Amino acid sequence: MKKLYIQTLGCQMNKSDSERIAGILSEHNYIETDNEKEADLLIINTCSIRQLSADKAYSQLGVWGKMKKNRPNIKIGICGCVAQQDKANIRKRAPYVDLIFGTHNIYELPELIKRIENDEKVCSITNNPVIKDQNDFKIIRKDSVNAWIPIIEGCNKFCTYCVVPFTRGRERSRFPKEILKEAQNIIKEGFKEITLLGQNVDSYGKDLGDKDITLANLLRELNKLEGDFRIRFVTSYPSDITDDLIDAVDECEKVCKYFHIPMQSGNSRILKEMNRRYTKEQYYEIVSKIRKRFENVTITSDFIAGFPSETEEEFQDTLDAIDELELDYSNTAAYSPREFTKAGRMVDKFIPENIKYERLERLNEKNREVCLKSNEKFTGKVLKVLVEGKTEKEGKITLNSRADNNKIVHFESNQYNIGDFVNVKITKAQTWCLYGEPVE
Ligand code: SF4
Repeated sequence: MKKLYIQTLGCQMNKSDSERIAGILSEHNYIETDNEKEADLLIINTCSIRQLSADKAYSQLGVWGKMKKNRPNIKIGICGCVAQQDKANIRKRAPYVDLIFGTHNIYELPELIKRIENDEKVCSITNNPVIKDQNDFKIIRKDSVNAWIPIIEGCNKFCTYCVVPFTRGRERSRFPKEILKEAQNIIKEGFKEITLLGQNVDSYGKDLGDKDITLANLLRELNKLEGDFRIRFVTSYPSDITDDLIDAVDECEKVCKYFHIPMQSGNSRILKEMNRRYTKEQYYEIVSKIRKRFENVTITSDFIAGFPSETEEEFQDTLDAIDELELDYSNTAAYSPREFTKAGRMVDKFIPENIKYERLERLNEKNREVCLKSNEKFTGKVLKVLVEGKTEKEGKITLNSRADNNKIVHFESNQYNIGDFVNVKITKAQTWCLYGEPVE
């Protein structure tokens, strides 16, 4: 068999796509390797959410281009969001690339691979995806405990800073029957956690024309499946979190009490500029509703520092929101202008780089502060965790696990294995993780 090396940049959706690419190619004579130097086919699955990620993709292509000079038979491919958005530039900047395919073209791979093996330069980018039953294609999952299931792809929101609607297209949900079948197979294979994925996961079903197809009802159906496993879902759009969804999370014992709800800014004017369809007050209301309902729930978020026209006072509102909402963790980034987006054209309102990065540093500092505070809340409590990994040092085994509420918990024990659910009493809190000991 030939060897395939895939490098994945970006979000969980990309990681899930790479598992699907490896699965499809495994049925066409390609076995995955971790060593790019021995690969016959190198594929980079790219992200264009920030300029830095796009630059990383081109720099990796440059390295592989040099490798190809010594080994002209290797084939180089690029897929994902940069490929979808930037195909003309790729040909100019990296003419040695053999295969360019878009986010909607993964299922054409068997055909595309045949063509590059015949020394053709191939580019396949579609804007109108052909919907296929993904259960017809093999998936090689990287993790042995958690399995991702994309349930909806694309986004209709058009936040002014975001390229996703341009790279992933409009929302397309998979049918519940197809998702349930994939979940059943995953559980049979022994996975202990299912993460439902979507750029805007709460929009699930809206495009299918049946009011009963919702994320809440999908969770209820998945919860009925037999087996010892748990369910997560990401990423939520604040104003799309319905009372019914909160009820479903509450009713379903297998669904983790964890919400990832990007706020992006703590200031309503900036939220409007971002075309986020909620105000600061509405976001506060959602968080308060969730906190009132669930005891050990965690709520995480995303924030952008230095969005065009953001004043110091408006940025301060973001810091205050993180504090007041007691957010448990946030992903942070400095604003990065993206081609095609509305905010990318607000050039006269761009914040100088030094100010943007100084705000990002303060945002990170605030994040560290609230994370530690959030972790300290769990000291003395018992959390049910799922063991995800193991490290051994000087005869001591440390198990690395994740609680239902997504907190990372380490504990020493030689009684448990990867994939076990364990009750752990938390004894110590640090900024990014908790420590504990197993209890009955
Ligand atoms: S909701 Fe906004 S930020 Fe999220 S994927 Fe859609 S356009 Fe992008």
